[in-house]
Amino acid sequence: VEPIQPKPVPLPAEPPEVVGPSDEDCLRELGNQHVRFSVMDELRNVRTPVEIKSPLGGVVYYTQGGGPFRLDCRFALTLQQLGPILTKHGVTRVRFSGAYVYKTAPSGRLSHHAYGVAIDLHDFETKRGTLTVKKDFRQGAGCGRGVPRLNRLACDLERQGIFDEFLTPDFNRAHRDHLHISISRF
Ligand SMILES: [Zn+2]
Repeated sequence: VEPIQPKPVPLPAEPPEVVGPSDEDCLRELGNQHVRFSVMDELRNVRTPVEIKSPLGGVVYYTQGGGPFRLDCRFALTLQQLGPILTKHGVTRVRFSGAYVYKTAPSGRLSHHAYGVAIDLHDFETKRGTLTVKKDFRQGAGCGRGVPRLNRLACDLERQGIFDEFLTPDFNRAHRDHLHISISRF
């Protein structure tokens, strides 16, 4: 009697699906621009998560608690791009409260923050003092001549036309103390 051979387990025809494909081009570009960062293995819902460890566009981004600065690689490149505008306004450091945050928007959809493509900016430190959205943004001022410095800065940023959302205290009460900027989700 022949001994029964165990049946070989068939190999799957397709390799397992890669979750959260890494966007190599973006990572390469971020490296080429001399940004210091680490690539994260996974960050829920974020396509190409990175943790930033240097200024972006010559500007230091920081939080009150000194928490990590995590976002999608594409959005890191967007902030790189904003560097010259912020620098033109004398900004050296920006305090933010939230970048990547897994949460829903009031609409019930996942917020842009949950994709790592949004940031809430509160304070802009310049050599001539700190501009605070809560105190220094004049609501309803528009972008004409003679508007306050912070409004002018916001106008210059919005004029880049690269954002999916650009929300200021003019938008609603929830945004009275910060600028929310985002790029499109995937
Ligand atoms: Zn926000």
